[in-house]
Amino acid sequence: MFTKETIQKFEKLSTPFYYYDLAVLKKTLSEVQSLSKANNFHVHYALKANSNPEILKLIQSYGLGADCVSGGEVKRAVETGYKSDKIVFAGVGKSDSEINYALDQNILCFNVESTMELEVINELAQKKNKIASVALRINPNVDAYTHKYITTGLEENKFGINPYEFDTVIDLIKKLPNIKLIGLHFHIGSQITDLSPFKKLCQRVNEINTWFLHKGFDLQILNVGGGLGINYKEPDKESIVDFKSFFSVFKEFLEVRPGQEVHFELGRAIVAQCGSLISRVLYIKKAINTNFAILDAGMTELIRPALYQAYHKIENLSGSLRSSPSGQLFKYDVVGPICESSDCFGKSMELTETQRGDLIAIRSTGAYGEVMASGYNLREEAPKVFSE
Ligand SMILES: *Cc1c(COP(=O)(O)O)cnc(C)c1O
Repeated sequence: MFTKETIQKFEKLSTPFYYYDLAVLKKTLSEVQSLSKANNFHVHYALKANSNPEILKLIQSYGLGADCVSGGEVKRAVETGYKSDKIVFAGVGKSDSEINYALDQNILCFNVESTMELEVINELAQKKNKIASVALRINPNVDAYTHKYITTGLEENKFGINPYEFDTVIDLIKKLPNIKLIGLHFHIGSQITDLSPFKKLCQRVNEINTWFLHKGFDLQILNVGGGLGINYKEPDKESIVDFKSFFSVFKEFLEVRPGQEVHFELGRAIVAQCGSLISRVLYIKKAINTNFAILDAGMTELIRPALYQAYHKIENLSGSLRSSPSGQLFKYDVVGPICESSDCFGKSMELTETQRGDLIAIRSTGAYGEVMASGYNLREEAPKVFSE
């Protein structure tokens, strides 16, 4: 929701730019902070959703840890003030130099995705005379019922270790002197809005946690990952995600032994709703069956619609200021300037009558927006504007 004053402020700026409403982010963070305190949960923020330094510093100030998927992210987390004992590092393809950097930083834990990775971390830790703490990323075979490109918890997936490999993995770990197994890690997918996959995940975690205990591993950390979805259709109805219901599932269904810690890795649910991509209409083009609104922002600024057929709410901010007694809406295919047919933010989007020069907001773009920007077509990087 944008006030008249905010829209008038936007009118003076050159577009496109990313806008971050820090009040929304702060409210989200205090909710996460108070609920995780009440439940004794540890929340790591998944940097890959948005690694803007200002945003990272704010998130860190609310006591969250960092979940990283590259050496660059570990470095960014360290540089923006995250304590190394609150940094975890996941990813199927960690390079030797990334592992070495993380070992030097003494991070809390490597989330390990294969047996060969265990051997490599052991070898690199040995050279540094260090013991690397690891959690096994396990493939729980839980269907998150989300888009096929963002489901990660099924057996035939490049991520994680499958239950049929457990015996081999345990035998291997016993032989690796510089590896210490401290936890189990899961992450079943992203943009999950129905909570039942999380309930299923808890049941699988309980079975696996018990199995490891019987094998002599009383593990300190159960990391259940992230994936909590947001309301893209109506961002103003739910600008703060229902974290309470989400955490309640784990409180109710996860069997946590005394001394065991429950960790989460939330990305999208924390940052998505605070961001909007603000753009201007360059041209209106009438075609046979549709009208195109051609924006000065494209898939180079926000690739989610082109990549995952993702929906983002689109609003004509200038139109909302013009008095339109009829309130009539018109349909537009809202597209960008990039030379790709997939460079389309939404088909048949209902907007107030739209003109050249109108300011357009593409909502809920705080997660997987700015971080996925590219310079394709030699486009310049869009500036970032903060509400305060
Ligand atoms: C992407 C990712 C997350 C965060 O996912 P969201 O859907 O943004 O909450 C957490 N953990 C791992 C391992 C990831 O790859």
